[in-house]
Amino acid sequence: MLNKTMQHLGEERSVIRELFEYGNGRKKIVGEENVFDFSIGNPSVPTPDFVQKEIRRLIDTVPPEVLHGYTSAPGAQEVRKAVSDHIETKFGVPMSANLVYMTCGAAASIAIAVEALCEEGDEFVTVAPFYPEYRIYVEGSGAKLVVSQSDEKFHLDIEALDKAVGKHTKAVIINSPNNPTGAVLSAEELKALSALLEKKSLEKGETIFLIADEPYRELTYGAEVPFPMNFYHDTILCYSFSKSLSLAGERIGYIAVSPFACHADDLFSAVCGAGRRLGFVCAPALFQRVCAASLGKSCDVEKYRANRDLLYGALTSLGYECVPPEGAFYLFVKALEENAVAFSERAKKYELLLVPSDSFGVGGYVRISYCVPRAVIERSFPAFKKLYEEYRPRSL
Ligand code: PLP
Repeated sequence: MLNKTMQHLGEERSVIRELFEYGNGRKKIVGEENVFDFSIGNPSVPTPDFVQKEIRRLIDTVPPEVLHGYTSAPGAQEVRKAVSDHIETKFGVPMSANLVYMTCGAAASIAIAVEALCEEGDEFVTVAPFYPEYRIYVEGSGAKLVVSQSDEKFHLDIEALDKAVGKHTKAVIINSPNNPTGAVLSAEELKALSALLEKKSLEKGETIFLIADEPYRELTYGAEVPFPMNFYHDTILCYSFSKSLSLAGERIGYIAVSPFACHADDLFSAVCGAGRRLGFVCAPALFQRVCAASLGKSCDVEKYRANRDLLYGALTSLGYECVPPEGAFYLFVKALEENAVAFSERAKKYELLLVPSDSFGVGGYVRISYCVPRAVIERSFPAFKKLYEEYRPRSL
């Protein structure tokens, strides 16, 4: 017999992937230029030249058997050192290379962090709207995902979190800049969250951890992204180069355990153990080295800013409602009917592919990924207009 849970997981495509595949089918029928595919968060800004140059330099200078061979399970020592130096210099945290684990993007980082912490009966709390795969990682580890709603601007609602975090909570998972809303948590919010977690840890008599999922750290439009380890000691940072360097297909990122965490070395051992159990050892060797030379740098974020401004301006002037995103590359727009799935279905009539919000843990919105060529955004305006007018016909 098969593991039916895994079979089901494999058969059930995510809503985002489903829409993306649907879009590919439509493109073949009605032509690529007539489909407005805002479904997937695949970076559209080219991978920076300095990354391409570094790939070539490494290929030309490092012997292939070294470049493409195994590194240590947690990553090449010089790469881990580069990451810890970067964290120390940029954020003033006394990091150690021995607390850095190179892995396959943020997806593997979060899956490992959850697995490293999870014991029977545990709960992981996250804040909606949230990245849908959290549920897969948490439930896959045998824990329960508890969802706490954010406030109306998609920032932390500390009172709601106070109710959601309890004696079974093992960790709280946050994501800033946020997918799908683009919200960036402020220093005040992190202070309040940290105070809450300290209080709840005392009540529980055990540490409650903070998992900070940060694949969009570099993608902001003016907002500062405070560094969670500077606010809460027991933090596990999950970072990825997928979005910042447009390297999503290369599967590279890292986990950094805070040196301030209680028994940080033991926690790191648990991370290594979880990586081993899940099969995420020795992250892609070439890209470990490429990223070590590109820490803190990013692709041309201004291109995303221009897309954001164009789309936000056009949609709000048509009458759509949306909180202006401060980071990442998504707009979270109020659907024009309560049922976001029905709204997304209706948008398909105009070849607009918008992700309904339900799998992000809230109803009534759609996510629009604006990591697309600018021309797609420009061509989509008449479709958005027709969709709006179908719901709110203008009186003559
Ligand atoms: N976390 C969030 C919030 C994301 O949006 C994504 C990808 O879209 C991931 C994690 C996974 O990122 P990666 O491709 O680096 O595994």
